[in-house]
Amino acid sequence: MDLELGDAHSALRDLARAWVDKEVVPHAAAWDRAEAVDLAIVRKLGDVGFLGIEIPEEYGGSGGDALSYCVLLEELGRGDSSVRGIVSVSLGLVAKSIKAYGSEEQKEHWLPRLCAGESLGCFGLTEPGTGSDAANLVTKAVRDGDDWVLSGTKVFITNGTWADIALIFARTGGPGPKGVTAFLVPTDAAGFGRTEIKGKLGLRGQATAEIVLDGVRVPDSARLGAEGTGFRIAMAALDKGRMGVAAGCVGVARACLEASVRYAKEREQFGKPIASYQLVQELLADIAVDVDAARLLAWRVADLVDRGKPFGTEASVAKLFASEAAVKAANNAIQVFGGYGYIDEYPVQKYLRDARVLTLYEGTSQIQKLLIGRALTGVNAFV
Ligand code: FAD
Repeated sequence: MDLELGDAHSALRDLARAWVDKEVVPHAAAWDRAEAVDLAIVRKLGDVGFLGIEIPEEYGGSGGDALSYCVLLEELGRGDSSVRGIVSVSLGLVAKSIKAYGSEEQKEHWLPRLCAGESLGCFGLTEPGTGSDAANLVTKAVRDGDDWVLSGTKVFITNGTWADIALIFARTGGPGPKGVTAFLVPTDAAGFGRTEIKGKLGLRGQATAEIVLDGVRVPDSARLGAEGTGFRIAMAALDKGRMGVAAGCVGVARACLEASVRYAKEREQFGKPIASYQLVQELLADIAVDVDAARLLAWRVADLVDRGKPFGTEASVAKLFASEAAVKAANNAIQVFGGYGYIDEYPVQKYLRDARVLTLYEGTSQIQKLLIGRALTGVNAFV
């Protein structure tokens, strides 16, 4: 097994690294303070091909494989988790679901736009009453002739106020996962309301929204996949999404490590750089070990995906480990920076604020543990 990147993946990493250093890193602190990234970044992501990884070229994509996606998301995560989130959701959850389950018409209509960054997607699963327990969502879609009429509320929807297309999961049948169907809902449809949720701890550059569907009418051709398969589509998207989140976490931890090593070599106390103190070196070493381990776990998922093997449990392992590691890394980085780590002149406080959500979304750490426990024991804690 070769754990070195080959030429194509190395070239993508170098391109992404340079692009992030130019287009993201210099602006990340200002976007955080302004509570919004400059949305011009979406077209730039599209122009450089980063919104089309793993989408075939015939639909406007850039090709590549799951490892390419991990390599890209690590670099974006190093630059700014808000920007990484734009890609994770619009490409990772929405465009890839359309690629996997869409009709030819849906693929031809949406994929070129999403890959170019002309349109942005959001993923509407979570509701006020159902987060971890998403299989019991209550948003309804009722058949009316050739149309469906959707009513309900979604919360915490990334890209929510920016998106042109919302992948909405709604109940069309009985209780539980088999009663859920997926729909591609244009966000300019009558009755589609959205409000940005302000005051987040981190990811402040991201538009996280509440979406209210008040009798939104869509044709049956907006249904993604067969009736009753929506929950399966959502879980498949999230399984692969967790690989991408894990890769993004590696990027956050690497940013913490790079900033901390730099600072430890510059900052002097007791007449010596703090890097010369073993207790400071321990803080750095702990981050470095986690960066390597988390990256290997994310890449293991990519390898399974690219070889067409089952990868769900491995994705939970990677997401659980990498997200907890990113939080620890950011906490260690603040310790290395001392008081300067606590103020926003330096980036490490933002890394901690941004990292904190990573153990919550796309399945909390507890949910990942239950998924891993189910795979180990065969006992399903969710029923
Ligand atoms: P709950 O499910 O209420 O959980 C609360 C606590 O209980 C957690 O610690 C949880 O681990 C624990 N818990 C729950 N059930 C169990 C159990 N059976 N056993 C043990 N512990 C349990 N959702 C989307 O659909 N689309 C998005 O784009 C999106 N983006 C997000 C962006 C942000 C910034 C945030 C904060 C959230 C986002 N979410 C999104 C929602 C996110 O996925 C949910 O917040 C998450 O799934 C947890 O759901 P909840 O917040 O309702 O918490």
